[in-house]
Amino acid sequence: METKQFKAESKRLLDLMINSIYTHREIFLRELISNSSDAIDKIYYKTLTDDSLVFEKEDYYIKIVADKENRLLKISDTGIGMTKEELDDNLGVIAKSGSLNFKKENDLKDGYDIIGQFGVGFYSSFLVADTVTVISKALGCNEAYKWESKGVDGYTIEPCEKDSIGTDIILKIKENTEDENFDEYLDEHRLTSIIKKYSDFIRYPIKMDITKEKPSSDDENKYEKYTEEDTVNSMVPIWRKNKQELTKEDYENFYAEKHYGFDKPIKHIHISVDGAVSYNAILFIPEKTPYDFYTKDYEKGLELYSNGVLIMNKCADLLPDYFSFVTGIVDSEDLSLNISREILQHDRQLKLIAKNIKNKIKSELQSILKNDREKYEVFYESFGRQLKYGIYSEFGSNKDLLQDLLMFYSSKEKKMVTLDEYISRMPEDQKYIYYAAGESNDRIEKLPQTEVVSDKGYEILYFTDDVDEFAIRMLMSYKEKEFKSVSSGDLGIDTEKDENSSDTDNKENNELFQHMKNVLSDKVKDVRSSKRLKNHPVCLSNDGELSIEMEKILSAMPNNETIKADKILEININHDVFKSLKEAYDKDKNKFDLYTNLLYNQALLIEGLTINDPVEFTNNICKIMV
Ligand code: ADP
Ligand code: MG
Repeated sequence: METKQFKAESKRLLDLMINSIYTHREIFLRELISNSSDAIDKIYYKTLTDDSLVFEKEDYYIKIVADKENRLLKISDTGIGMTKEELDDNLGVIAKSGSLNFKKENDLKDGYDIIGQFGVGFYSSFLVADTVTVISKALGCNEAYKWESKGVDGYTIEPCEKDSIGTDIILKIKENTEDENFDEYLDEHRLTSIIKKYSDFIRYPIKMDITKEKPSSDDENKYEKYTEEDTVNSMVPIWRKNKQELTKEDYENFYAEKHYGFDKPIKHIHISVDGAVSYNAILFIPEKTPYDFYTKDYEKGLELYSNGVLIMNKCADLLPDYFSFVTGIVDSEDLSLNISREILQHDRQLKLIAKNIKNKIKSELQSILKNDREKYEVFYESFGRQLKYGIYSEFGSNKDLLQDLLMFYSSKEKKMVTLDEYISRMPEDQKYIYYAAGESNDRIEKLPQTEVVSDKGYEILYFTDDVDEFAIRMLMSYKEKEFKSVSSGDLGIDTEKDENSSDTDNKENNELFQHMKNVLSDKVKDVRSSKRLKNHPVCLSNDGELSIEMEKILSAMPNNETIKADKILEININHDVFKSLKEAYDKDKNKFDLYTNLLYNQALLIEGLTINDPVEFTNNICKIMV
């Protein structure tokens, strides 16, 4: 018998493929099962178009048999089979797909489920086998043929015996090497787990003889082993089922089975899209933050399937970072199975799906916010920070998408409010959206800087997350209202006294303020009389781009110690303390210096900033006590 050579380019391709396309050996089984499934699809299609044929559902299945002793793994199907010519054509020429041709010849729409179209999957059998034997009998043919190959050397085809229509693929599994254990591809448990992992949703039963135990008939305390044929795959994927048939528990079970999380999802989103791109997806919004969520170990992504066959466990390109908490699966018939991660990144279909999913998640979150506020607050507690990062990152390019999903604690409502709610109840004369930043709601509540804004009856949003102020700086405004920190230089509020009065205050006390500034040297940019203080003697405000809160955050990061906000020391000239200060200024230079330092340090403490020299500070306090 003559050994035919693979076409020259095939030879190179085979080498290339075996070593590079497939990073995991185990996928050979996925490829062979997918081919079997395609072959059954084809015979099914024939019965639809040929009246002389009937399709009896029970007759169509895939069977896997492992023969450990002889190191043989057999994958059989009752599909359409291959003629001698087809064996030659489809298995002799790499990158030639009989399935793609079938699709074209029969003018099958994209919606049709046939998986193969690349013409390389079959050769992945050489990842685990030395010899591959294919025994096939085609529909409408009386003879069966045997195709056999030991890899790059080429292949033989000869007539053989086979009773029924279909194909057997027989792999002679490689011997173990020092680095690699090939025995596992003959192991029942390993095989079932590979099938479950990649081929759980193949629509035809994948059968295997499974070893089980039952109480022995002679001795009830003993167990004896027996084998029974089981269907290993669950066949119909939940995402292909009709939404109406599924209960909340079904989705929750799926969530648990997939180990998406230990919590119960707050919401599931079941999507079926038919259009420019077709796909099914089930997405989950978790309730609790995974323990590693805010660390670099957390890996975002959705499971990606092509026609019910797993391509990738975590396809990161399907989710933007700000929705990285979403888990779930996507199945599209528009994606090819044998696609690498690199190619996938540039795949147009995938990009469309990703965009679609992004908008869907956004609208779903918005609807939870609108219809189930309590749930949304639970969600926001877990993942709100991620949304705020989303506003801040990528130069703010996602702010329009995300701004309506934000919430902050409100000074007035004493609970979380949205920006829209804030805007909707703003008094007419209020120009800005006010916020105050600090460590906790309690601490912010006591900030002297909030007094004037609060007294005016304006609502203040409390920023307690590191990222808050950075995100808001990126946002700049919401519905044409600018954000304003209660510590910023100009609050845009007319106080009872007319505008000029504080200028006169400043003028009148100018000399004194100038001296205070000199005492504090470069620690403050300016000393002024305050428009915002009522009961407190001092506070800090800031002038430039960088706020005091931001200074704290940035200086907590390595290498950023030198970043400083431009601080203004504001003095409440109506406070009794100011009178003492004035008196000291006129009479006792040392006392004046002492007071100035004390007031400055107090202002630092109120802001939650550290005092440069705490010992000196306490000594100073002692000085005024004795
Ligand atoms: P693809 O599945 O992408 O077309 P493969 O290399 O996996 O590429 O398979 C090549 C071709 O061999 C298939 O298109 C199909 O025509 C044929 N083939 C492979 N396995 C079988 C099978 N079990 N039954 C019938 N035909 C098969
Ligand atoms: Mg294939």
